[in-house]
Amino acid sequence: MADTETTQPGDGTGDAIQNDPRVPPELDRNVFITTLDAVYNWGRKRSMWPMLFGLACCAIEMICTAAARFDLARFGWELMRPSPRQADLMIVSGTVTKKMVPQIVRLYNQMPEPRYVVSMGACATGGGPFKEGYNVVSGIDKFIPVDIYIPGCPPRPESLLHGFIKLQEMIDRQSVRTVPWYRPGGSDVIPVPLLGPDIIDVRRASEIAERNKVMAESPALAEGNAQGQA
Ligand code: SF4
Repeated sequence: MADTETTQPGDGTGDAIQNDPRVPPELDRNVFITTLDAVYNWGRKRSMWPMLFGLACCAIEMICTAAARFDLARFGWELMRPSPRQADLMIVSGTVTKKMVPQIVRLYNQMPEPRYVVSMGACATGGGPFKEGYNVVSGIDKFIPVDIYIPGCPPRPESLLHGFIKLQEMIDRQSVRTVPWYRPGGSDVIPVPLLGPDIIDVRRASEIAERNKVMAESPALAEGNAQGQA
């Protein structure tokens, strides 16, 4: 009785719904009011399917995260899929060599949207201890968009779980009205880089051509560049 005196129907509280005479008694404890974004984001963030692939030592920590001690299943993320067609999360775990970049970009393009990328460890984020290596790219974000960066060499499973929680928080802030995958045309497809003497991002083809032209007109500059690469 006290509730009906202090709570007005329609004021946005649960009590108001339960006391609203328009709601039949058999339903008065089964009616919830929420937003479309909350339901949409709740469903996605609790059922991520990561792609099952690893590149180097960080992948061992990722595998440990999925095992019993840390247990990804607590987050609803335990279904690691062997196919990009069934995955919505790419965990780039390990050193990214130039030879692997075309494959990573191709896998990313094959993932359905919505899709997310986690850069796990110093190597995937910036090259790590191999940054100056002739065969290593200094960050996978030069080729595909990264949502969450996880520091460490290697990050422990707790760090990966923290990154997952941060990704869930990021998903929570998205709105079905503004996400890119419902816009006309969808998200951009990333052209697969070319692997020749070096890795070439075809999106930067004009910039590379311009640089080559400048070097061709300045032999001293070209010689200095060649010595720098040697
Ligand atoms: S960040 Fe460290 S642990 Fe991870 S792949 Fe690179 S070298 Fe290995």
